[in-house]
Amino acid sequence: MKAINLVLFGPPGSGKGTQAELLRDKLGFVHYSTGEVFRDHITRKTPVGLEVEEYVTTGKLVPDDVVLEVVNAFVADHAGKPVVYDGFPRTLPQAEGLDRVLEAHHAAVDTAVLVDLEDDEVVKRLTSRRQCRRCKKIFNLSFSPPRVAGICDACGGELYQRDDDKEATIRDRLRVYHDQTEPLIEYYEDRFKLERVPGGIGRDKVFEELKRILAGFQE
Ligand code: AMP
Repeated sequence: MKAINLVLFGPPGSGKGTQAELLRDKLGFVHYSTGEVFRDHITRKTPVGLEVEEYVTTGKLVPDDVVLEVVNAFVADHAGKPVVYDGFPRTLPQAEGLDRVLEAHHAAVDTAVLVDLEDDEVVKRLTSRRQCRRCKKIFNLSFSPPRVAGICDACGGELYQRDDDKEATIRDRLRVYHDQTEPLIEYYEDRFKLERVPGGIGRDKVFEELKRILAGFQE
């Protein structure tokens, strides 16, 4: 796989995290999830973790300067590799910041894929989402339940509901998404980089769409 920089964005719960995992496992992308990075900092109680904890647990956006600092370090370490950005950028200043740091490494965002989903479907999906504490694998009680309730199929770890997956928090996150992240649609449209995939067509079909989009970059 060429060193493609793929941005995956969309409302919370649209399935972009699952697609990013597929891109990693099947196509060798580096999966970069700022949400996962922040949760890891919080668990390890690092200075970044202490700074972002309140935002992450209440579903508010971490300030752009903090986000861009961790992303800049990541890009510096991964230049020249295919990367899928999952949950980043989430604001216009972050999109501009990503363009700047990639340019400094003689790269650019190649394509930005909006995985879209209606608000009510988001709420339905996220309130039934569970994550493994140990290996971070995501399950959904409605359409991909674990074989044994409360236990991770992959590693036997304990499944839990993230604080930011409770309904009131989800409604807040959706408001934040509409206000702060949706302007990215126009940002990438203006740069001829936007692709849209409906998140409701199912995991495998969404992945087929992503492969079709990526095929355009292989020649
Ligand atoms: P996620 O796992 O992508 O849903 O992210 C979980 C939480 O981490 C979000 O609700 C935010 O509090 C924070 N977060 C993750 N990525 C970003 C970002 N790019 N900008 C601001 N906050 C973020």
